[in-house]
Amino acid sequence: MTIGVVGGGQLGRMLAIAGYPLGLDFLFLDRERTAPAGQVAPLLTAEFGDRERLRELASRSDVVTFDWENVPVESLRGLPCPVRPSRAALAAAQDRVSEKRLFERLGIPTTRWRSVESRSELARALSEIGLPAMLKTRRLGYDGKGQAALRTRSEAEAAWERLGAAPLICEELVPFDSEVSILGARGVDGATVFYPLCLNTHAGGILRVTTAPYGRPQLQRLAERHLGRVLVHFRYVGVLTIEFFVRAGRLIANEMAPRVHNSGHWTIEGAVTSQFENHVRAVAGLPLGETRALGHSAMINLIGRMPPRARILAHPGVHLHAYGKEPRPGRKLGHCTFVAPTAHARDAWVRRLLPKLAPGIRIP
Ligand code: AMP
Repeated sequence: MTIGVVGGGQLGRMLAIAGYPLGLDFLFLDRERTAPAGQVAPLLTAEFGDRERLRELASRSDVVTFDWENVPVESLRGLPCPVRPSRAALAAAQDRVSEKRLFERLGIPTTRWRSVESRSELARALSEIGLPAMLKTRRLGYDGKGQAALRTRSEAEAAWERLGAAPLICEELVPFDSEVSILGARGVDGATVFYPLCLNTHAGGILRVTTAPYGRPQLQRLAERHLGRVLVHFRYVGVLTIEFFVRAGRLIANEMAPRVHNSGHWTIEGAVTSQFENHVRAVAGLPLGETRALGHSAMINLIGRMPPRARILAHPGVHLHAYGKEPRPGRKLGHCTFVAPTAHARDAWVRRLLPKLAPGIRIP
């Protein structure tokens, strides 16, 4: 069985690495000839909206999935094999306004927001939401790109000048206590599994560190209920992620990703079945695997510069994942994971390694 994957980044590469032991084959499509997944599987090179190449991908595959959600959904219509997750789920996640409406319709608490397409709509949004606020492009934002925090009217003016050419969303800036995410998977037969909540530390809009499990059984139950509603709403097949702010013991949904997610990388070594394997199992119509954590995990992203391999591997118990990408400032080049018997031992490890791997970053 061949799984066609649109997008050949590190997520795709880790999907293939998880799928090979199950006897599955992979075929990727990416814009870049040097895409990381191309080092482990055959790769077609084309724009994501190229109907002809997408048809070729689908005709050589049994199912098509994604490692990137910003594929033009129209170009996926009428492909000769199933597309999982569905185009509807993809479309909702591509536009921050549709995403907010979906959360509201499903009773999932989210930030207060207004759609903004003109200076006057921005002024109205700010008078209703107040400052501080966040201004974001509705589409194509990731890793903090296409967004600005607004603390003053003059910052709002500067952000409008920078971002205003595209449709925007303005939302309240949440003074969160922490950021968490939940990942879950739904199979073709409707079975669902959920991973333990992950605690995420971002800097400059980019995920830097994840630790899991977060604990807090009440928040876990709530997060599973929220994610479960989205999974059922779309009759979703595959892994889905929702990121939340935690504020005074409440969960406030920030955004969702219809795919495997950076905050779930710890599951490769830290859970019975990794997010990658469960996504592959789901889209291939196979039974889902157990999601239980095997200990207390930490994942540190390696961004912009790859430390020497030997320096990382000199720490006993550390797992390294290098994505085979050219270094560039702000680029995710790899990650490393550590699984400890206690949360205390794990956090001590993170505090020892962070100054070397991610200077200036601290965990809560
Ligand atoms: P996003 O691309 O929406 O996931 O935003 C990236 C990061 O920016 C989030 O993980 C937060 O750290 C921060 N952020 C985004 N939106 C807000 C908000 N409304 N309030 C506070 N922080 C935010």
